[in-house]
Amino acid sequence: MIIATTIKEVREQVAAWKREGLTVGLVPTMGYLHEGHASLVDASVKACDRTVASVFVNPTQFAPGEDLEAYPRDFERDCRILTEHGCDMVFHPAVSEMYYEDAATFVEIQSEMPKQLCGQTRPTHFKGVTTVVAKLFNICTPDKAFFGEKDAQQLAVIRRMVRDLAFGIEIVGCPIVREEDGLAKSSRNTYLNPEERQAALCLSKAIFAGKAMAEAGEKNADAIVAAMTEIVKAEPMAVIDYISAVDGVTMMPVTEIKGNTLFAMAVYIGKTRLIDNFSVEA
Ligand code: AMP
Repeated sequence: MIIATTIKEVREQVAAWKREGLTVGLVPTMGYLHEGHASLVDASVKACDRTVASVFVNPTQFAPGEDLEAYPRDFERDCRILTEHGCDMVFHPAVSEMYYEDAATFVEIQSEMPKQLCGQTRPTHFKGVTTVVAKLFNICTPDKAFFGEKDAQQLAVIRRMVRDLAFGIEIVGCPIVREEDGLAKSSRNTYLNPEERQAALCLSKAIFAGKAMAEAGEKNADAIVAAMTEIVKAEPMAVIDYISAVDGVTMMPVTEIKGNTLFAMAVYIGKTRLIDNFSVEA
């Protein structure tokens, strides 16, 4: 696997692949990889001739006081996982490679979409995400890019950006990968102590219960949200940020299941903020 740290190296390698007529898949990550990330690499390797993964803890998507410094990092381990899964190149830039000190250009969706759900407590988060992903798209010029449904709002935001700015890139959403006991895999799970790890199961319990209600034909989104809220509230260590039902494309609140509906939650377990979700089609 090629390890690239500069934009120039990535551009030259991708250009060489394209001259050979090969297609390129991109998997953007912040590293500390787990099976969720690996599933995106697998999907890319299957769908594209060459796969590029990026490992970059993007400072602009963290607000002051969030976990930018504490975010787990282990690049050697990441490289082992990427190699095992057939990734062809990893792009691991320094912050100074990605951002000029006087960088003043940002990509921001100016609608209600990035203000919903996670945007309520993280108002600057998605501006950082769209800016870095747009830049990664310009650097790698992939044919397809792979994102996890675990970050459902991020996926919706990226799809909107790609549509609005006419990026010629197919966005592929990949299903949530979970631990055996149901907890959605996340690099942030490493913050949890054993007691918190047990308490964190209230998220997936609520997700599975809500999903079962929807699959049994419940159309009242508020009733499903109420049942999910009750399950999370039964866990004394859990503090709810939000549990909401929204339109799967616009992220705007809904009270009835109509078309694609997303049920999403963010819950604090101790200091760790965890997210989970499921989608239903009416
Ligand atoms: P991150 O490194 O947390 O920024 O995540 C990088 C990519 O991996 C994003 O597209 C995430 O949605 C995806 N991802 C993270 N966790 C999971 C998971 N448990 N299942 C599927 N995809 C995931």
